[in-house]
Amino acid sequence: MTLRKSLVFASAALLLPAGGLRAEVTAPAVFFKQAPGSDYYLASYTDYAAYLRKLATESDRMKLIEIGQTSQGRPQLVAVVSSPANLARLEDYREIARKLAKAKGVNEAEARALAARGKAIVWIDAGMHASETTTAQGQIQVLHKMLSRSDAETMRLLDECIILFAHDNPDGMEMISDWYMRHADPKKREFSTLPQLWQTYVGHDNNRDSFMSAMKETENVNRALFREWFPQIVYNQHQTGPAGMVVFVPPFRDPFNFNYDPIVMSQLNEVGFAMQSRLIAEGKPGAGSRSAARYSTWHNGMERSVAYFHNSIGLLTEIIGGPTPTNVPLVPSTQLPRADELMPVTPRDWHLQDSLDYQWSLNLAVIDYAARNRERLLFNIWRMGANSIEKGSRDSWTITPGKVERLAEAAPLKATGTDEYNRPAAAGPKKIEPGLYTSLMQQPAERDARAYVIPAAQPDLPTAVTFLNALIKNGVDVERAEAPFQAGGKTYPAGSWLVRTAQAYRPHILDMFEPQDHPQDSQYPGGPPQAPYDITGYTLAYQMGIRFDRLLDGVEGHFSAVPDLMAPPPGHITGHGGAGWLVPHDTNNSFILTNRLLKAGVKVAWIAGDTKAAGHRLAPGAIWVPATATSRPILERAVSELGIDAFAAGEPGGPAMPLRPMRVGLVDHYGGLISSGWTSWLLEKFEFPYRKVYAKRLDEGHLEKDFDVLLLTDGALPAKGAWGESHPARQPEASDTPAQWQPMLGHVTDEKTLPALKAFALQGGALIALGSSTRLVQALDTPLRPALARTVDGQDKMLEKKAFYIPGSILRARVDPRQPLAYGVPDKVDVFYNQAQTFIYDDAATGIDKAAWFDGRATLRSGWAVGQEKLAGTTAIAQVVVGKGRLVAMAPEVAQRAQSYGTFKFLFNALQENPAVGPVVKSHH
Ligand SMILES: [Zn+2]
Repeated sequence: MTLRKSLVFASAALLLPAGGLRAEVTAPAVFFKQAPGSDYYLASYTDYAAYLRKLATESDRMKLIEIGQTSQGRPQLVAVVSSPANLARLEDYREIARKLAKAKGVNEAEARALAARGKAIVWIDAGMHASETTTAQGQIQVLHKMLSRSDAETMRLLDECIILFAHDNPDGMEMISDWYMRHADPKKREFSTLPQLWQTYVGHDNNRDSFMSAMKETENVNRALFREWFPQIVYNQHQTGPAGMVVFVPPFRDPFNFNYDPIVMSQLNEVGFAMQSRLIAEGKPGAGSRSAARYSTWHNGMERSVAYFHNSIGLLTEIIGGPTPTNVPLVPSTQLPRADELMPVTPRDWHLQDSLDYQWSLNLAVIDYAARNRERLLFNIWRMGANSIEKGSRDSWTITPGKVERLAEAAPLKATGTDEYNRPAAAGPKKIEPGLYTSLMQQPAERDARAYVIPAAQPDLPTAVTFLNALIKNGVDVERAEAPFQAGGKTYPAGSWLVRTAQAYRPHILDMFEPQDHPQDSQYPGGPPQAPYDITGYTLAYQMGIRFDRLLDGVEGHFSAVPDLMAPPPGHITGHGGAGWLVPHDTNNSFILTNRLLKAGVKVAWIAGDTKAAGHRLAPGAIWVPATATSRPILERAVSELGIDAFAAGEPGGPAMPLRPMRVGLVDHYGGLISSGWTSWLLEKFEFPYRKVYAKRLDEGHLEKDFDVLLLTDGALPAKGAWGESHPARQPEASDTPAQWQPMLGHVTDEKTLPALKAFALQGGALIALGSSTRLVQALDTPLRPALARTVDGQDKMLEKKAFYIPGSILRARVDPRQPLAYGVPDKVDVFYNQAQTFIYDDAATGIDKAAWFDGRATLRSGWAVGQEKLAGTTAIAQVVVGKGRLVAMAPEVAQRAQSYGTFKFLFNALQENPAVGPVVKSHH
């Protein structure tokens, strides 16, 4: 931490003015090419950054810091705004905020004293979703006002608060502004036809990465929030507002995640209502909350919601507007005031400056709340941290929907309805059986973990390190055992890791290790399920296939704090003098080794059966690396840097699959397909060579000239029939598209693209399909059929949601690890599944290798599943012969948002498998 600290302040010092301060700060209208906030104009990030640098030289109310670089190498700037006196003591205030947020070793009296001395720290960011242009444009005006106004309110806010005005996605602001401003004629300006994702790799999913922190931008923000600045409020600004309204403002609808401290939600409600009150008092109508939109507080993947798991008040607003004038449409149902929409807005024209005026009010409302409640905010973040530490230090029980259901079934007091005062109308026995609650809700075996142990013995140790790094990036304290220790009846080796729950960020820890038990959430009693906001189950330890133990009692031993992100511990080469080495297929990093060897021309092979090397038994799929002058340094470097093991061995006998470099085409669309973007990030991380391929090239056919493998992620082939329905995104006219983007234009269609894909497979190509693209099993006439289908008017449809609905959950799948597609995967694995089609086929069908399937009627591990029994016996992942080639169809999202490390191997195997060899092992049905 100290290292980071000095880095931040070194950069801040560099950006500080050398000489005296000028009395006036430059107005945006003077600095920019056109006044930010005026119609048909978007300032770029380059100009935004230049303006911030200018302000930093002019104002003594601001320090400019850089929290890291973006994917494209731009600096991610944060303007720290407060009174000059506070800025002079910034380090002290940051330390107070840290002590109170971490709460460790701080008693109540000390917390009160620190809260009295400290300043409220408020994070307000902009630009996360770059197409939501108002927020970053508005921040320019907000900054200028905060630095130039001298009214009583501004001075009070500056005295009481330290505000971090941050930018989440500099690359996107640059791209969107450039694209919008490319036309000289304002009436032609638009950004809906942007050729690429506005955050490299992930686009809109940049706000689904918070607990994983895979992207640089997320890592930068999380470090600032939970390791360096510890704001009590995190305000994340978005677009667009509910139809017929201007802006969505907190509070949020249910469900509410049971892991976090209730003070988070009660204070969130306070701030939300303060925001609404300010708008109303200023005569700004049209704010809606709770039922006005779908946002809930369940999912840990978003910036404003990851804050809850860190005892910080996460706020989200969603406002209308943009540089091109628009309007508030007439939506009659919004016109009557109600609890969730106190002051309806009359339909009217709308300009960018209107949005910016609201944004200023909302920013002020949040800062004013923080100023007026400074001591309470500081004290309460300590209180929440202290609550966490206390819960993690004694027996405690988390109340989950499942446990409440159990209670409801057993409790004698059963209401059959309510009277007008909402009392149970037909109350059961008045007397509650003593001990019932305790016996059902506080079973000793169901105590919350005091700690989680990640043993050093893991089939995929480097992945366990990546998991721990995701926790560390989120401010969680991790310890390493310096000596063997005993706990829960087991002995753990030195080098094992311990994550204690007696720490402030306990809610985050529980959420990463334990199932998300999502409540049944129907649109009305007995009605169809209500769609969640995003997904419902994401337990990271499950998704990453981490082996861990829960310790229900305190643990003693010799542990040291892990100070920062870790590299995987070096692996070992066991034995020597063989013709080469065998490398287990268990680690994801082994694919990096194989890719490096293939690139260098080394003849690598997969061994089909069990093998032995240097006294060790290796499971099917062991990677044979012949010892050559080329292979030796590559292998030795990989063992030491990537944490993989190798065993000296003689030339293996028995069946083996020789590998060769594959020419991989990753299908993408004009504008960027998010699933394809995440996949490209993953391919680069694991050093798979690939090229992007678009509809135009696919439709030209003769794909075998350029590719061995084509990878179609969810959405690459539009959904139809039993796969649902999806529609192509808007594209510009070719005549209106710069030459460099023209090859990307066009749509993947059944008419032109499918015949080309079929011809490619028939001639020996490999197709890998995920999500909606698994429709290829039907389109290419394979024996695989959709399992979750019904027929309506002779047309295939997905099952009705009332009968089957699994909106993003973790399920347990069975695996045949002797299949090359499943090499290195355990025989039971947790898969991320999001309402995707699974497969069935006739017993007589041939040419099918089944790698994973759902077995039994209850496969849910984390999240929410309606009708999960419908998956029983259906195939999840299979390879099917198509002519001389093959199709790999995967229903689970095996590369879900670069999180599901436990199932990456299905994809990686499919990419490295040699299609010329054909199946090595036959399926056993
Ligand atoms: Zn957004």
